[in-house]
Amino acid sequence: MVKICCIGAGYVGGPTMAVIALKCPSIEVVVVDISVSRIMAWNSDQLPIYEPGLDEVVKQCRGKNLFFSTDVERHVAEADIIFVSVNTPTKTRGLGAGKAADLTYWESAARMIADVSKSNKIVVEKSTVPVKTAEAIEKILSHNSKGIKYQILSNPEFLAEGTAIQDLFNPDRVLIGGRETPEGQKAIQALKNVYAHWVPEDRILSTNLWSAELSKLAANAFLAQRISSVNAMSALCEATGADVSQVSHAVGKDTRIGPKFLNASVGFGGSCFQKDILNLVYICECNGLTEVANYWKQVIKVNDYQKNRFVNRVVSSMFNTVSGKKIAILGFAFKKDTGDTRETPAIDVCKGLLGDKAHLSIYDPQVTEDQIQRDLSMNKFDWDHPIHLQPMSPTSVKQVSVVWDAYEATKDAHGICILTEWDEFKKLDYKKIFDSMQKPAFVFDGRNIANVEKLREIGFIVYSIGKPLDP
Ligand code: NAD
Repeated sequence: MVKICCIGAGYVGGPTMAVIALKCPSIEVVVVDISVSRIMAWNSDQLPIYEPGLDEVVKQCRGKNLFFSTDVERHVAEADIIFVSVNTPTKTRGLGAGKAADLTYWESAARMIADVSKSNKIVVEKSTVPVKTAEAIEKILSHNSKGIKYQILSNPEFLAEGTAIQDLFNPDRVLIGGRETPEGQKAIQALKNVYAHWVPEDRILSTNLWSAELSKLAANAFLAQRISSVNAMSALCEATGADVSQVSHAVGKDTRIGPKFLNASVGFGGSCFQKDILNLVYICECNGLTEVANYWKQVIKVNDYQKNRFVNRVVSSMFNTVSGKKIAILGFAFKKDTGDTRETPAIDVCKGLLGDKAHLSIYDPQVTEDQIQRDLSMNKFDWDHPIHLQPMSPTSVKQVSVVWDAYEATKDAHGICILTEWDEFKKLDYKKIFDSMQKPAFVFDGRNIANVEKLREIGFIVYSIGKPLDP
């Protein structure tokens, strides 16, 4: 029986391994992590992450051929294929601070693999890493090898949070990069055999190591660039009276462009887009490609601009001050169908409003009070000027209340900011909400999900990203 071990039981390691276990009953899959609480949660009824369909997949194979464990070394030693899916955040200090990927977790995983291995292994980069990371991993492993042979593969993950299970069941492609040697090709084939249990052959691509590593960064950069492009257009729409939804529809009808990922919003978030573009920028700079680096930097700058623009719109619409005013924040996660708040635009928007002394009442169906208080009290890291800014004062944190109901959040509020596109926000009784609010009552829709005409009929003053302003 082939044994797989995955180091890192996070948003990627957990779901990807659960799907491999489900689709490959003949393979034993163990997901290991140094976080005891995370592993306990994976072994309980309350999984550590919210992802539609994940519970069912885990329930079907946990205890049969899927296991979660903190016994990292034992399972790594026993595995034939080791996926490494640890976090690779942006470095916050030292060389490359603010841009380069922090490979500390990766390096310690690689050293541990070298320490405990007693048989040949295939080591798979599942984390998103800078191009050429495999070379560094090869060095660490070969210099500590004790005669054991390692083959490194790059198999970046393209799932999107919120649709992870669907994406894993039916991936657009599975990408496997490896060395062009016979051993490298053999390792690629071994991993292909795993995916071949459910992924059609023509969707499994194999490339050299560097192309696979770079493709992941490139894919995220292209996706984020599309969002920044449409968001840049949304500012122009507001200035000219064009409607960004109509522009997106017309542009997306061009088959060379296509309709997906063209929704204007308050900005992109999530743990990956900004981090991976910064990583790309750093690699370009290290290779002397300043103009290319500047090109990609602009994608993040437009994203920051969009969040600021939103805050400024809220404050200026509410008579240039939100001091002491209650503002309901509907949605805190970086997108719907996830409880993940990493780099969510809601953090910057809330901090901007708190800076103007607003009182925030926040509701998100999947985000806890602890998460919100932690996110809002954390230092903001400025990637462009890598110094830590001051943490929020305790009074600012006191200006925040977290509630468990949209009606409670909006009661007595002066304005509502919709920051996550949760389906339930489309179905709210906005008449009831309007009646419970201070007047004039404002809606600032950062996701363009509200029915603007209906809200205006009720009496709301409505701002939607990239749409003609209230008459
Ligand atoms: P995560 O923070 O949710 O999970 C990483 C896990 O690795 C943590 O639980 C941590 O405790 C564990 N870990 C760190 N060092 C370890 C060690 N030495 N031994 C054992 N466990 C260790 O991160 P994530 O969101 O799952 O992302 C993982 C990687 O996948 C990142 O490189 C990310 O860029 C990439 N990625 C993420 C997504 C996404 O949507 N989240 C999508 C594609 C790729």
